[in-house]
Amino acid sequence: MDSERLGTILSEYGQPAYRARQIREWLARGASGYEEMTNLPADLRTALVAELPLSTLELTHEAVADDGTVKALFHTRDGHPVEAVLMRFRDGRRSICLSSQSGCPLACTFCATGAMQFRRNLTADEIIDQALHFRRSEKLDHAVFMGMGEPMLNLDSVLEACEYLPEIGITPRRTTISTVGWIPGMEAFTASTESRVRLALSLHAPRDDLRSELVPSNDRYPLAEVLAACRNDAVQRKQKVFIEYVMLAGVNDSDEEARQLAALLDRKLFKVNLIPYNPASVYTGSLPERIDTFCAILRGAGIGTTIRLTRGRSIDAACGQLAARGLSAAVSTK
Ligand code: SAH
Repeated sequence: MDSERLGTILSEYGQPAYRARQIREWLARGASGYEEMTNLPADLRTALVAELPLSTLELTHEAVADDGTVKALFHTRDGHPVEAVLMRFRDGRRSICLSSQSGCPLACTFCATGAMQFRRNLTADEIIDQALHFRRSEKLDHAVFMGMGEPMLNLDSVLEACEYLPEIGITPRRTTISTVGWIPGMEAFTASTESRVRLALSLHAPRDDLRSELVPSNDRYPLAEVLAACRNDAVQRKQKVFIEYVMLAGVNDSDEEARQLAALLDRKLFKVNLIPYNPASVYTGSLPERIDTFCAILRGAGIGTTIRLTRGRSIDAACGQLAARGLSAAVSTK
């Protein structure tokens, strides 16, 4: 919800400031309308219904995959697309994937969001409203900033949203911010947060030449510097950094590349998550056997490695895919 507008309305109606906290608590528990907020005076509830939408985002499209994954495409009040995903796992985990920006200025070559036009940073309210959308249907326990956008280019709003997530049941240890390796943001993150929010780096290649091809921002912040910033974060905040590595057939998935990757990583500071590619551009995803071998080489070198479960394929749930397809629909409702 637009918290600034809420403040204005509350003061116009001569209401005490604690009303904002009450409303926030209701939303965090999954309330889907002001009518439910029974500890607010009735006339205030009526005024809010008329004057303040419950969310800063409007839902444009929602799809449910056969594995239970839900993908929502929203648009902001000024017409920009935003995606978020809810992943339901068999062990009961409920994880949401949040966007920090509408579009992304960084243009990684394999990513659907990178192919869209960059719109703008999202506000903390717009990030929180993605989570609240899913909270209205069920309890949540994990969040990852792996939707649209580069969180380190919008760090203040991302951290503000992270402060709110525990109220809806998502603790900092179960929150992960994923970055392309934008060093100024990473340094600010390490310095500014005492919290145990986790850091993930999208590495995707063990050498600068290849990484620059896949992740153009590598020209500006090369691999050695990015890894140094990760090591610094792991040491300062005393927890491992996740390395994300998207598996692209014949591009970055050879045995040699697995060995090069292992050689870069200190087993005490890093864990690797291999990501099966969700086709979104010219690349082809590595075959499962190739991913298994790559994983075995890393493990053999003592690096903790997991393979990400693929969710929501049938509904284009990978970063940017839905917005890329539904963009004209999102914009036309402006
Ligand atoms: N900008 C941040 C967060 C957004 S992307 C970052 O780059 O980390 C979140 C993760 O999804 C990144 O690791 C990204 O490389 C990966 N990703 C993007 N498109 C993908 C696709 N089509 N299939 C699999 N992973 C993808």
